[in-house]
Amino acid sequence: MFEDYHFSENAKIITEKVPGKKSLELLAEQEKLESRNRSYPRGIPIAFESAKGATVKDVDGNIFIDFFSGCGVLNLGHNNPEILKDIKEFPDGIMHALDFPTNVKIDFMKELLSSLPENLKGKYKISFGGPTGSDAVEVAIKLARINTGRHTILSFQGSYHGMTMGALSVTSSIRHREKANPLIPGVHFMPYCSGYRCPMGMNNKKCNFECVHFIKNVLENPHSGVDKPAAIIIEPIQGEGGTYIPRDGWLGKVVDLARKNGVMVIFDEVQAGFYRTGKLFSFQHTNAVPDIITMSKGIGGIGLPLSLILLRKELDTWEPGTHIGTFRGNQLGMAAGLSAMKFVKRMNIEDYVSKLEKVFLRELKAIEKKSKFIGEVRGRGMMFGVEYVKDKKTKEPFPELAKEIRKLCYENGLLVEIGGYYDNVVRFLPPLIISEKIVRNGLNIFKNANITASKNVNSKPE
Ligand code: PMP
Repeated sequence: MFEDYHFSENAKIITEKVPGKKSLELLAEQEKLESRNRSYPRGIPIAFESAKGATVKDVDGNIFIDFFSGCGVLNLGHNNPEILKDIKEFPDGIMHALDFPTNVKIDFMKELLSSLPENLKGKYKISFGGPTGSDAVEVAIKLARINTGRHTILSFQGSYHGMTMGALSVTSSIRHREKANPLIPGVHFMPYCSGYRCPMGMNNKKCNFECVHFIKNVLENPHSGVDKPAAIIIEPIQGEGGTYIPRDGWLGKVVDLARKNGVMVIFDEVQAGFYRTGKLFSFQHTNAVPDIITMSKGIGGIGLPLSLILLRKELDTWEPGTHIGTFRGNQLGMAAGLSAMKFVKRMNIEDYVSKLEKVFLRELKAIEKKSKFIGEVRGRGMMFGVEYVKDKKTKEPFPELAKEIRKLCYENGLLVEIGGYYDNVVRFLPPLIISEKIVRNGLNIFKNANITASKNVNSKPE
């Protein structure tokens, strides 16, 4: 399926080396014009010319397989022709409408609310914030504070929620936090159920949900030292943290604890949502239900900036205009999002993703088996992490190897990114409309990169 959505089903490197001459020129221009703050082109020095489906072309004419989708934004591929067609027909009406109603906005909201899982249907409303994932997180925190009259927030070690001050305050990366301090007060980081790197020092087999016991103590022990929280914000699958998928039952236990203690539950579905794991939301693989859901990235259909929260109707208590902003609701983004939701249903993307998930995991596990340095392969839907360690027993992180793999993949026509607590996890977030053949071709490049990089490690003097 989707064979003709791409430039080709394999990578094509036509320059002697990558980056090619034209990419190098644009990168040099960029350096002169844009702040040092730019980051992605440092890991993958490439300048893009065009893109199609799960492939991108650089300015030198090389074609790359894209296993990253603009960090999980282009869930339905680059320039998906059916979505493009719909938004080209977008009525010349209005591109910017503040938060006035428009036909496209009403249709978008109806489609999203009718796409909710059965147990959530009829129970939620939508609020738009600014256009980014961070904006959605800001709104969610504010709404929980308003509804509880409390300010403390519980978040998780290993979490990523964004870079604006509120979102950064609930993000655990010290590297990012220390540059911005002081952040909003009253945020406490709980241990996440990240099996392979269990913060309680257990491993998957022995685990008795010790981390849940820890959170229970924080919430219920009058001497915990933590004021009663307004909310707990959770990524049902940690994305940037390294694709950590909690053990079955964990999310439900944490949610039950929060409910019992009157703490609002926010699920951040900015990355793992919009069918990334095969379902609209990643929490649908569990029986847990949140009070507030954040969405962004894929909901803009074709990479257009759009973000929102879904809130339980009972929480809709705030005064009109409590959270305002100029760019609430990008009309074109809504048109694309509406088209994308219809595309997902028409093309039966949920089943397609669960089929390809199996192919991916089977191939990745085979690569893991042969590698001395892959500590764990994890994944759900189209969200995968391959964690590199120096030693499988000690689990000492091996970020240098992850970097080398990214470089070798790039040189051979595959774009992948790195994440993880120790920057030692190669992450895949391919478009959901990738063809099976492209998956296999991409994984072949990845496999060869592992073989070459491991040989290089073994041949280095101690
Ligand atoms: N939440 C999660 C789970 C994310 O992965 C991200 C971005 N990687 C954000 C929030 C922030 O989104 P944005 O970069 O659009 O602000």
